[in-house]
Amino acid sequence: MNQIPTLHDAYCAHARIKPVIKNTPLLIDSGLAKITGAESIHYKLECLQETGAFKVRGAANKILSLDPGQRQKGVITFSTGNHGKAVAHVAAGQGVKAVVCLSEHVPSYRADIIKNLGARVSIKGKSQDEAEKNYYEIMASRGHIPVVPFDDPFIIAGQGTIALEILEKLPATDVLMVQLSGGGLMAGIAMVAKSINPGIRIIGLSIQQSPALLESVKAGAPVEVDEKDTIADSLLGGIGIDNRFTLKMVKNLVDEHVVISEEEIKDGIRYLFEHQRLIVEGAGVIGVSAMLGNKIDVTGKRVVTVLTGSSINTAEYISIVQDKLQQR
Ligand SMILES: *Cc1c(COP(=O)(O)O)cnc(C)c1O
Repeated sequence: MNQIPTLHDAYCAHARIKPVIKNTPLLIDSGLAKITGAESIHYKLECLQETGAFKVRGAANKILSLDPGQRQKGVITFSTGNHGKAVAHVAAGQGVKAVVCLSEHVPSYRADIIKNLGARVSIKGKSQDEAEKNYYEIMASRGHIPVVPFDDPFIIAGQGTIALEILEKLPATDVLMVQLSGGGLMAGIAMVAKSINPGIRIIGLSIQQSPALLESVKAGAPVEVDEKDTIADSLLGGIGIDNRFTLKMVKNLVDEHVVISEEEIKDGIRYLFEHQRLIVEGAGVIGVSAMLGNKIDVTGKRVVTVLTGSSINTAEYISIVQDKLQQR
């Protein structure tokens, strides 16, 4: 499969990965609906997914599609963490060897988790792009099969299974709010949602500190942006200079874009703790941030946003939640 994935590919992915993923709950938040005037607001709880993020869907769809000869060669990837965890977890479950390349930016607790899942970790470079260079060198010398984080039809179709599960439970969804980093999540979800109901409005969520995909959409070609530190570290990283799938799909399928600040991310984290007792990482909350910050008009709409992951450092999490308590 080497072309833009379709709804059919997402259905095939869903059947393939069912044994190794969770069909996560869709949680309703009537409190936020009241505040925003929405008809209803729902969270797809991928923070409860295997390995703590949705990335296991794409990784499983790719690895379970490999033939025996490819499995024998082992797999290799580069990642800000959650994709690496997902690849390590799925590969270990299938008895396939895995190598994960990380940049020095990735928090060390994340590297340790990947090692504990049974993968070999290679840490090199100051940015995601440099980690990618290291990955190409190892792949060339050892012949491992690449499992990329987003720009692959199998990965996109795998992430798209999230939308199949949402629309099965809430076919009347009006608005879908989805994070943008490399764009695999958005490309998959938006493709499935628009194929099933073209009337669904798709909102792209970017962060001020690393809006590479949004800048690329504006420029019409991949743009490199300087990565600044962010508490939404899972959204760091460029989209690849030779991007083939996600930029085109995101450009064609997303109806509106919003950009979220660091303070707004923290507000989202605290809101989900205080009102839903949910622990969600920075990258996961920005749909909630967008609604709390009135960045998007959801009046009268049925809105779904994906709480994409739960990989946040405990000390950092506690300090964010405590900040607010001290202000009172
Ligand atoms: C990877 C990731 C994203 C963004 O997904 P892309 O496919 O790279 O756009 C969002 N949230 C979390 C928690 C992630 O791990």
